[in-house]
Amino acid sequence: MRVPLLDLSGQYHALAAPIRQQIDEVLQSQRFILGPKVEQFERALCDYTGAKFAIGVSSGTDALLAVLMALEIGPGDAVITTPYSFFATAACIARVGATPLFVDIEPETFNISPEAIRSFIEKNCRQVNGVLMTRDRQAVRLIIPVHLFGLCCEMDAIMEIAREYELLVIEDAAQAIGAGYPRSGGVASAGAIGDVGCFSFYPSKNLGAAGDAGAIVCMAENLATRLRTCRQHGMEPRYYHQFIGGNFRLDELQAAILQVKLPHLAGWSAARRAAADFYREEFSRRNLADSIILPAEPYRERAGNHHIYHQFIIRAEGRDELKAHLASNEIGSEIYYPVPLHLQECFFYLEHKAGDFPEAERAAAETLALPIYPELSREAQRFVVDKIAEFYG
Ligand SMILES: *Cc1c(COP(=O)(O)O)cnc(C)c1O
Repeated sequence: MRVPLLDLSGQYHALAAPIRQQIDEVLQSQRFILGPKVEQFERALCDYTGAKFAIGVSSGTDALLAVLMALEIGPGDAVITTPYSFFATAACIARVGATPLFVDIEPETFNISPEAIRSFIEKNCRQVNGVLMTRDRQAVRLIIPVHLFGLCCEMDAIMEIAREYELLVIEDAAQAIGAGYPRSGGVASAGAIGDVGCFSFYPSKNLGAAGDAGAIVCMAENLATRLRTCRQHGMEPRYYHQFIGGNFRLDELQAAILQVKLPHLAGWSAARRAAADFYREEFSRRNLADSIILPAEPYRERAGNHHIYHQFIIRAEGRDELKAHLASNEIGSEIYYPVPLHLQECFFYLEHKAGDFPEAERAAAETLALPIYPELSREAQRFVVDKIAEFYG
């Protein structure tokens, strides 16, 4: 039995007719840039996330980049973030000329550790005239937490630190659209908890376009206006450029397709959670607890959408051999991510070394993503767990 890591064909076939109709409408209208479908999708995204404003952009990477440019983050600035994420998070910080300040993750959730943020600030920074400065006199301006694999970071603790030191919080919610975070007043949605949220609609993300696409959400109108301007080369009015932005526009065609899919997203996320529960049952039935650590669900009792399982990540003894064993049985798996960001060649200039962020390094060495998607069959999941049991047996 062949079990790919991800198979998008089931989702497409179920929605082929409305998607093709939407594409046809755009072609008939010949409006390809910032038309009515982008506006409709932006409104729908506000409803879905609870954010006041949404700005469709060209990718998740460009969402992060546009936010940093709109906030005028640049040389002399520094941004606290995680060393265990997709490359784009730290790359955008470096691309605007600022310095990424990495702090380690929590081993249970793989997300940035609020305690590590606090102790980093207390050990390495001083407040000078109301600005948080590093030892080499860079101004710490932001925190970018990443809700990795579909689970929200401990945002209450992160927001408390941010308010204390007057930092803004940009959520990298590229992997977490719709993920719930329990708050005193109810459940908040990833991206709409901090000051700004960034989403990716890369085809393999939980809400995937037919190409590159992304979005930014925020609560403040002045920032939303600036982001809209930034998306169009800082241009307002036409051919008058207030500041340097970029071409960060969301295509009308992509918005049309995303609009068809968004109403199904909550159901897809619930199906992913049901698949995760089934993996849990199968793993416990086979007593694999000594060899494998299953993903943590810290908000399960308090938030319905506690985890959207963009990935189902296990820690496995003999990870690389297990991956090879699964591959030889035609089961897809993947390592997210084999090299933590502080050890990437392009960041050698930051002068980090192995051992600087031990939990991120251990996660990179031990974790493995197993197949998970809404249409994944129980039979396929049983086969995956059978083959894992065979490996350890
Ligand atoms: C996918 C992803 C991005 C980048 O999104 P693109 O749409 O591929 O540019 C950024 N951050 C994280 C955590 C991601 O997973």
